[in-house]
Amino acid sequence: MKHEGSLSGIVITATRRHVQVYRDDGTTVEARLLGKNKDTCIGDRVYLGSAKGDFFVEKTTPRENTLKRSYFNKTKILASNLDSIYIVAARTPVINTVFVDRVQVVAHTEDIPVTLVVNKIDLEEARSDEILARYQNIGFDVVKTSVTTGEGMAIFAERFEGKKDLYRTCFTGMSGVGKSSLLQYLLPHEDIRTADVSRKTGQGKQTTTQSFGYLYPNSDKPQALIIDLPGVQNFGVSHLQASDIASCFPEFLEARLDCEYTDCMHTAEPRCGIKQAVDDGRIAEFRYHSYLQILAEIDAARPY
Ligand code: GDP
Ligand code: ZN
Repeated sequence: MKHEGSLSGIVITATRRHVQVYRDDGTTVEARLLGKNKDTCIGDRVYLGSAKGDFFVEKTTPRENTLKRSYFNKTKILASNLDSIYIVAARTPVINTVFVDRVQVVAHTEDIPVTLVVNKIDLEEARSDEILARYQNIGFDVVKTSVTTGEGMAIFAERFEGKKDLYRTCFTGMSGVGKSSLLQYLLPHEDIRTADVSRKTGQGKQTTTQSFGYLYPNSDKPQALIIDLPGVQNFGVSHLQASDIASCFPEFLEARLDCEYTDCMHTAEPRCGIKQAVDDGRIAEFRYHSYLQILAEIDAARPY
């Protein structure tokens, strides 16, 4: 079936019953979610129907990727069709490697490229620099920014503008790293902080949304959809397979060839290439620690 530009578009915010759709004709409308489309999420490409002056989602197009989280044994879809994920950390307080690695692992399982943003680069912290050097060695894409001085901030415009379709990206980070400040800098017309606070306190209209999408640079001429993904609990990993986790750590690849057992999980097994590589410093201890944490979380969620 062929659809006009006014009846197709991309979901930019979603609550349980409604979505906002940025339509291919350049306008935004609210549409209702009916039963079979209730899993529609931010980033979905949808086709709309209309009845009695109301729009509803008629069809959701198959997703290229789906960002999911698990929470108390339930899996929830956060966003789809992402071109990238920006993990925001700060030079100080020290980069939270467990958080970075959890997001990277979730992204890896869905083939979504990640970028590590090290904000507050105007401040000093030697330990963060050591960690950062390890990430760069592993091959992480790293961007250094300071919202305060503006350093590094131009990179986002370079990456988000001039794409054929709406560029879809999401920002996540532990609280305190400066994520809201960064988003406010990129989206001066929006009120990021208020939206964030109303979600955190559970007040206001957005309490049912897990994440919030903004058109960038503004809604008149949008080039990108920037999704603000708050909360560390958004990256529950227990929906992943324990046996898939090691391959999400690219720097484990070589050392795994030295494991005696082909099904080695790199935990209690003897003659494990990964543990050997951690011991002699080829693999960063903090990365192995994240690996074990993720395995433990998956194990804890397993039904008996
Ligand atoms: P969020 O919890 O990640 O959303 O963090 P906020 O945006 O609320 O920022 C936390 C604190 O860090 C605030 O006091 C900001 O002013 C400050 N901050 C944000 N970005 C920078 C930066 O690049 N440099 C410095 N020095 N402070 C920053
Ligand atoms: Zn092993």
